[in-house]
Amino acid sequence: LKHAPQAHSTPPRKKARTSGPPLPSPAKAGIQEHRKQLPIAKGKDALVQEIRENDVTVLLGETGSGKTTQVPQYLLEAGFADSGMIGVTQPRKVAATELAARVSVEQGTPLGGLVGYGIRFDERSGPTTRVKYMTDGMLTRELLGDPLLSKYAVIIVDEAHERTLRTDLLLANLKRILRERNGKGNGKPQVNGKGKEREKERNPLKVVIMSATLDAEKFSQFFSNAKIIYVKGRQHPVKIFHAAQGQTDYVDAALRTFFQIHVDQPPGDVLIFLPGQEDIESLEKAIQLFAHQLPTGHDEVLTVPMYAALSGAQLHRTFAPTPRKTRKCILATNIAETSITIPGVRYVIDTGKVKEKRYLAGSTGGGFDTLLTRDINKSNAMQRAGRAGREGPGFCYRLYTEDAFLGMAASTEPEILRCSLAQAMLQLLCIGQDIQELDLMDMPDVDAISSALRTLFLLGALDSHRELTDLGRAMAALPLEPTHARAVLASKDLACTAEVLDIVSVLSANGALFLDATDKRAEIAEARRKFVHRAGDHLTILNTVRAYRAAGGADGENANGHVNGHDGEEEKVGRSARKEWARAHFVNERTLREASSIRDQLRLSCTRAGIDWRASCGEQEDPVLLSLAHGLAQNMALITPDGSFKQIMGQSVVKIHPSSSMADKKVPAIIYDELVYTNQIYARGVSSIQKSFFSSLGAFNRREA
Ligand code: ADP
Ligand code: MG
Repeated sequence: LKHAPQAHSTPPRKKARTSGPPLPSPAKAGIQEHRKQLPIAKGKDALVQEIRENDVTVLLGETGSGKTTQVPQYLLEAGFADSGMIGVTQPRKVAATELAARVSVEQGTPLGGLVGYGIRFDERSGPTTRVKYMTDGMLTRELLGDPLLSKYAVIIVDEAHERTLRTDLLLANLKRILRERNGKGNGKPQVNGKGKEREKERNPLKVVIMSATLDAEKFSQFFSNAKIIYVKGRQHPVKIFHAAQGQTDYVDAALRTFFQIHVDQPPGDVLIFLPGQEDIESLEKAIQLFAHQLPTGHDEVLTVPMYAALSGAQLHRTFAPTPRKTRKCILATNIAETSITIPGVRYVIDTGKVKEKRYLAGSTGGGFDTLLTRDINKSNAMQRAGRAGREGPGFCYRLYTEDAFLGMAASTEPEILRCSLAQAMLQLLCIGQDIQELDLMDMPDVDAISSALRTLFLLGALDSHRELTDLGRAMAALPLEPTHARAVLASKDLACTAEVLDIVSVLSANGALFLDATDKRAEIAEARRKFVHRAGDHLTILNTVRAYRAAGGADGENANGHVNGHDGEEEKVGRSARKEWARAHFVNERTLREASSIRDQLRLSCTRAGIDWRASCGEQEDPVLLSLAHGLAQNMALITPDGSFKQIMGQSVVKIHPSSSMADKKVPAIIYDELVYTNQIYARGVSSIQKSFFSSLGAFNRREA
């Protein structure tokens, strides 16, 4: 009875289709053909049947077999979305947006219609949306307002093997929701007379866990031995070469390996795995430089970067067919490992490195999250090699030795065991959950939990009885890290929300604000001198945002960045003036544009929270710095006689990062955004503050907590 026969009928998606731009039929036919050719297509009916019969299904299939794009469509077409949406979670924003775009093309509907996405600060979905791709973080946020996720008929947890903190919290909650919505052991719904209750009972949830690696057992066990389904992928043999010796400079090694392939080997695109954006950018430049110096007769080289901070449109270029007489070289982070499959790759170069978030606990608390470049594990290495064998036999060049490979850890340590828990715990507390009582796949250690509790207490989110305060609730309502949320809330009392939002939105953007080029240091310093603020990096950001806005001519103080009724011509002129300004000042315009859309979203959140985002303190500095200091209470340090800084709440001695406008300055006290850990500990995003802030903070926190 649970699955009435009408569930087989096609969902009402004709309407959406006719309202969308009609696709030229050859393309559409091509796409439908492509869908049918995917490895997963053969098992479609059996898969749909299994999901129909089980509350939880674990689906394991090689990258590129069609899990992410097809399974939601199969379920949609089989009527699973009749009683609620199909939500598909991804660990990365850009995968969520890109896959939603692809699937809406496959459905022949405009993005944001039948198929949409939701990521922090960006939502493309509407009342007609049935399939929604989103980050695992977005869905955990939805628990705040809807603890049973009642909008959803199906939740697909994709890339579960990555074991992000959000995925783990989601899995624990899904287990609870299954109990509440589907009832224990499929028992009869309790009859308590309330129509609403019964409705809930009739709205069971389906959960599908998808993974590309062989760790399905653990997920199955977690969900009381849920059924595991395997999809056989199309994997051709990949010949693997190991480096004879360990490499110290992996960017240089990758450069040499690329040109060996390019000069000596038959056609086929190359995919290079690097840890992060900086390495990608520097290798891209080097490859372009050398490619120009090759004697004629060699194919052209087309470089395509691929990392999380890129927009969907930029990422789209990876899917464009490689032009004739050209070798495409994709430079990617581990996003290309399993999330996004790139066609045409025949050669993989694996540096063996990845950037990983890790919490470094201080000896007396006051630890910090840091992104460290680390060695990958065996599972990563195997996935990376596999990317070369999607369409035919391929080759993988590992820039590390075979012994190094054999010595690698088997798989990734779950994020919950290695990063800061403050934000997650704050959100959990808001839905009345204590992380220590949650049924998690892996339990974080007590030190990490007490450190997060301490952070939340210092921010005033918890009182001394560990109870959530009103302030804590208000912090959780803002889509920001607790530190930034605290600063925004402090700005309300200090009447400088306009300024703090300008700064926090830049800090929440993905990319860097200032572009760097070693060969132009002097020129850059000169260009930026006008807006470098003597109080440090935060007010420098504010000056930059203001100068950028002023360059466009408009006052920029309306919510959308454009004035109604103004003709388009003026706006166009403004836009190109801003672009020119950004170029002339070596400022990353993409970051500023992203920040401006984040700011628009934050203004809406502020309005909802009763905060006047127009409140401005004009040219005053102290209110802004004091607001920020409220959030960065744990990130304060005092100068020592030798010119380095010692943390106030912690034992670490830090130096100011050379990229900071405060580098080499001697001021009594600083706040900083984060610490980066190289051969020593550097503070990044630094402002000079008055020592007296520290005492006024204590008073603030006590009063409000
Ligand atoms: P899986 O989730 O099993 O790794 P996907 O569903 O992501 O597989 O991908 C299935 C196929 O769809 C792959 O061959 C991939 O290259 C293709 N594909 C995905 N996104 C796009 C896109 N934006 N443009 C063209 N092809 C795409
Ligand atoms: Mg996938």
